[in-house]
Amino acid sequence: MSRTVFRDDHLTFQSQVQRFILQEILPHYEQWEQSGVTPRDLWRKAGDNGLLNCAIPEPWGAGGDFGHSAIVIETIARANCLGIGFSIHSDMVAPYIMRLGTSAQKDRWLPRMTSGESIGAIALTEPDAGSDLKAIRTRAKPAGSHYVLNGQKTFITNGVNADIVLVLASTHPEMGARGLSMLVVERGMKGFEQGQPLRKLGQHAQDTCELFFDNVEVPADNLLGIENAGFSYVTEELAQERLSIALRAAANLEGMIEETIEYVSQRKAFGRRVLDFQNTRFTLADAIAQSTMLRSFLDDCLERHMHGKLDATSAAIAKLNATELQGRLLDSLQQLFGGYGYMAECGIARAWADARALRLLGGTSEIMREIIGKSV
Ligand SMILES: Cc1cc2nc3c(=O)[nH]c(=O)nc-3n(C[C@H](O)[C@H](O)[C@H](O)COP(=O)(O)OP(=O)(O)OC[C@H]3O[C@@H](n4cnc5c(N)ncnc54)[C@H](O)[C@@H]3O)c2cc1C
Repeated sequence: MSRTVFRDDHLTFQSQVQRFILQEILPHYEQWEQSGVTPRDLWRKAGDNGLLNCAIPEPWGAGGDFGHSAIVIETIARANCLGIGFSIHSDMVAPYIMRLGTSAQKDRWLPRMTSGESIGAIALTEPDAGSDLKAIRTRAKPAGSHYVLNGQKTFITNGVNADIVLVLASTHPEMGARGLSMLVVERGMKGFEQGQPLRKLGQHAQDTCELFFDNVEVPADNLLGIENAGFSYVTEELAQERLSIALRAAANLEGMIEETIEYVSQRKAFGRRVLDFQNTRFTLADAIAQSTMLRSFLDDCLERHMHGKLDATSAAIAKLNATELQGRLLDSLQQLFGGYGYMAECGIARAWADARALRLLGGTSEIMREIIGKSV
């Protein structure tokens, strides 16, 4: 399907990103999956090649727009590397700082994130609060020139490597959701501990871990935006996060359809190519038909987002459809690989396991249905 959402400069950038993936990611990805973390020097190389903070304006970022971010997100997902955590860093953490930070905060954190010297993470989820963020218990007690931070976060992407973490914490517990604030916690602060990579079903190369805060003294200068406005900030940023997840799901699905076509074109059974069975062609036809429809809606969302017009309901529809469809279709494509599709070395097996997380993170499918349902 031809796409009109990208300009020529986006497409030129796409070739650059493809080269980067071929040279710097694919030869090592298997090894990173085994170690459960991507190396820090990958981030430096990505920064050198303009792959980080694409949509953050100069002098703080790479100076592009969300189209450039979408190119990075989609090209990495299409190459079946869903464990690379650039999107959280560039399309979640950096935008918070860009939108809410003072000039001094932007100067302090963003250029180092753009060069890849500093890696960003965002910590909302806790062991007892994920979908229901109003129930978080991490406490940031105001104490004059600083906050005293205590609590625990879990499932944090880029958590092991992170140099700066946006932490949602309760500054005034008696005010519930209206008493939450966003603090920037930095690697090396006394009492801040980053856990080991958690063992997961998929996305093994992504370092996902727990974070612990034990009387961490976070300077008042590290408050993002204003005190007690944290919950509304999170709500405002979610549309971009959900669109990013939807783009990852759709591009990964498209890449896997191509990989499946290649496989069934050369695999033989009963003297014929597997592609020649009607069941195979129908399975592929369904996958192509549905992913083409999905792409059309996502490009519309992307276009709207690039003009600042993407609403929360459309972003929820995009995430729900893309991730549910990806999960369902990858399952039927995997069937066409027979036993090979169950082997860890087979790309479709990795995609199937990696994709499962996308229906959970950034708001589960049930939460997406709640949002869409409430708009009725
Ligand atoms: C690989 C991975 C990476 C992640 N990265 C990050 C990260 O970087 N930062 C971060 O903060 N978090 C991260 N998360 C956490 C993720 O955002 C949460 O797991 C998710 O929001 C769900 O929260 P929960 O796990 O507490 O599930 P729960 O909220 O306990 O949900 C359990 C079940 O109840 C359902 N449910 C909950 N509320 C409702 C409702 N109102 N109506 C109907 N059903 C409901 C859910 O849909 C789900 O099926 C990550 C998770 C994963 C798996």
